[in-house]
Amino acid sequence: MAKYKISFDRELCIGVLACAGVAEKFYKTHPDGKVDLIGGTFNAKTKRWELIIDEKDLDVNKMAAEVCPVIAIIIEKLD
Ligand code: SF4
Repeated sequence: MAKYKISFDRELCIGVLACAGVAEKFYKTHPDGKVDLIGGTFNAKTKRWELIIDEKDLDVNKMAAEVCPVIAIIIEKLD
């Protein structure tokens, strides 16, 4: 089954919460008003939070990426 990587730039996030509205299993509100990528790990090189997901979770995360007004969520297919 194909794997995908969510890459989330928390610096860009302005806390609209649109992502959490469509993918609550993956994005949760943080007390600072932004969201956290649930289960994500911070990549110090890219300064982005990353999470590997299965194909079954792709559609909901694609939707989250599409509704984000600042394009803080990027999804790429892994080989
Ligand atoms: S939709 Fe984008 S800006 Fe809004 S909370 Fe989610 S990641 Fe942040």
